Amino acid sequence: MKTPHVQFPDQLYIGGRWVQPLDGNPLEIISPDTEHVVFRVAGAGPRDMDRAVAAARETFDRGGWSAAPAFERIEALQRLADALERREPELAAAWSMQMGGPTSIAPHIVRYGTQNLFDAIKIGRQFRFETSPESAIAKGARIVHEPVGVVAAITPWNTPYMLMTAKIAPALIAGCTVVMKPAPETPIEAYIIAECADEVGLPPGVLNLVPAERHAAEHLMRNPDVDKIAFTGSTAVGRQIAQVCGERVRRCGLELGGKSAAIVLDDFSDAEAAKILTSTIVTLSGQVCAMLTRAIVPRHRHDAIAEAIAAEMKQIRIGHSDDLEAQMGPLATKRQLERVEYYVAVGLKEGAALVTGGARPPRPDRGFFFEPTLFANVKNSMTIAQEEIFGPVLCLIACDSTDDAIRIANDSIYGLNASVLTHDPRAAAAVARRLRAGNVAQNGMRADFSLPWGGFKQSGIGREGGEQGLMGYLETKTMLLDTTM
Ligand code: NAD
Repeated sequence: MKTPHVQFPDQLYIGGRWVQPLDGNPLEIISPDTEHVVFRVAGAGPRDMDRAVAAARETFDRGGWSAAPAFERIEALQRLADALERREPELAAAWSMQMGGPTSIAPHIVRYGTQNLFDAIKIGRQFRFETSPESAIAKGARIVHEPVGVVAAITPWNTPYMLMTAKIAPALIAGCTVVMKPAPETPIEAYIIAECADEVGLPPGVLNLVPAERHAAEHLMRNPDVDKIAFTGSTAVGRQIAQVCGERVRRCGLELGGKSAAIVLDDFSDAEAAKILTSTIVTLSGQVCAMLTRAIVPRHRHDAIAEAIAAEMKQIRIGHSDDLEAQMGPLATKRQLERVEYYVAVGLKEGAALVTGGARPPRPDRGFFFEPTLFANVKNSMTIAQEEIFGPVLCLIACDSTDDAIRIANDSIYGLNASVLTHDPRAAAAVARRLRAGNVAQNGMRADFSLPWGGFKQSGIGREGGEQGLMGYLETKTMLLDTTM
């Protein structure tokens, strides 16, 4: 696998130039496989954040980018997408190195990221930035969609490339300028994006890069020259961002956490359910916002399904990211490992039955590894069924009927994703319509990022993907003129 090559890891990208940080501290990237520091990049401080926002503001206000015809920006984005596509092998290597994700799936994860650009380009080409509707009071009414302004794009560490491109692609097509603030654990992808932006000649200030820890990120989030915060991360931080944006009536898009349910209907066998639920919960070691973490099953089949899942979980091969046979890698950070251990202890204390897992595996003997874990006889009111664990921990919950299953699934502060396990598409659709979640798929965790993606309730505000994703970076202006133009 190709090692990522970052040209200026000790610098930030601001106003079209690589610059030394003014007041940030370097960020260390720790391998989840080995627990060693494997890379260092610059960290931005508050003054760097202000510099980056000022550069993005100036470029936006000058209008060369923001007021240009959309096709010019779409052409620029096409060049960026092509440059990034050429660097996919490095992006894949970067993801595995920072996240510990298996190299076998890294190319697919990265492909989703580049696909976000291609999808946004397609949407941008079809989108009508100006229309002429009928108006009772003006012959020349026009509806004009204009860019929202300076965007701060703040992303987490689990799929950093995909989550960053989901923001920058529609934002740039809309005509916004962007300050990228990747997670301190996984900044390399954003460096590659900035290098490609430089290489393909995006105008200075259009795309800026300031990796940083929480303190500086908060400073960025509070900067009054930012017009929109595009955030993916925890609901806890999302609430803070919503508060700050609320004070200024500033735009924000929030893609937050989840506690998504999988409802097993009667026609779906124990073995089929066990296979899907297990292969899902080990994906990215459970560190997926859309993860199906609550399996809701008919009460009379609860014990048999628990047994079938435990048998599947025991077969899962855990290994280093470069182990081509590994089905599950480590958790991304020590903090994440400790968080999962904490929730396992809480589950036991509250009386859930630990069927399998619940500990670090004997091998590998270093790294942030954790076994696939099943809790059975979980009550939906328990902490492990209500709070997002973000690890390979599945809760099995018994229900008395399909109505009861839907009630349990909806009894959550979250509403990001859900699944209905059945061979009957009509039954799947009927249940899907009653679930309070932004995405519902038949038979497993499925997401199509070319379509709208986002959460109900405390899983977020707004949607990424599709035309709705582009609309999130546009303001709508109605012009009432005396004649048509
Ligand atoms: P996090 O909320 O701790 O951090 C996310 C980002 O916000 C990071 O870049 C971090 O540096 C920054 N940040 C932290 N505090 C901040 C503050 N006060 N002001 C501004 N920025 C701040 O989340 P995480 O642990 O990095 O990621 C895991 C979370 O992300 C999970 O809850 C997961 O469900 C969620 N997630 C959601 C989606 C989705 O599409 N809904 C996708 C992936 C991950």
